[in-house]
Formats: sequence, C-alpha cells, structure tokens
Amino acid sequence: MTSSVRKDPAVPPDAHRTGPRPERLTDDEARRHLDHARASRLAQLRALAAAGRPRTGREAAIERDLARIDEAAARLDEGTYGTCLTCARPVPAERLEILPYARTCVACLRRTA
Ligand SMILES: [Zn+2]
Repeated sequence: MTSSVRKDPAVPPDAHRTGPRPERLTDDEARRHLDHARASRLAQLRALAAAGRPRTGREAAIERDLARIDEAAARLDEGTYGTCLTCARPVPAERLEILPYARTCVACLRRTA
C-alpha cells in the first residue's frame, strides 16, 4: 500500500505571487514617478493658462497636487517616503505607482474619507 501523503497539486508554488514586483519602490523609481507626476501637472497648468479661460477649481486642484508632490519629494530625502502618514505602515508599491505622492495607505484613506 502506498502512502497517501502528497503535496497538494491544486496549489502551485507561485499561486499567490503576482509577478516579480517588490513591495517597495526604490528611491530612483519613486523619484522618477514624482518627476513624471510633477511634469504632467505643470503641463496641465500651462495648457489651462494657454486656453485663456477664467481660473476654475481645476487649477487649484492641480496646484494642490504639486504641493503634495513636493512634500513627497521631501519625504524621499528624509527617508520616510512610502510610509503611511496615518498608520506608519508601508504604502504598497502598486498604490505609489498610480499615485506617487500618496500620503496614506488605502485603508487609512477610506477611514478618513
Ligand atoms: Zn495607513
């Protein structure tokens, strides 16, 4: 009689890996994302100014983003970038790639929203 003890074939070893993505962005990656975010916001502001229409809330929102981008760049210099300002846990790299100047993790964002 053979042993029935086997590895579970239903769960491949890499089942819960989504790819070779690390948990944290490197400083260089973070800086690149921030530079890109800053450049695109500045281009939006220039385009709005060139259109010559009266200022709306859109400009203010872009300027607020720019201020947050600068704050995030300062946190990068301090070594606190990528840490949730509310719960002090790491903000996932996926979130920082979408929103490089995120101040909080998604859980804290939902709590304070
Ligand atoms: Zn948090």
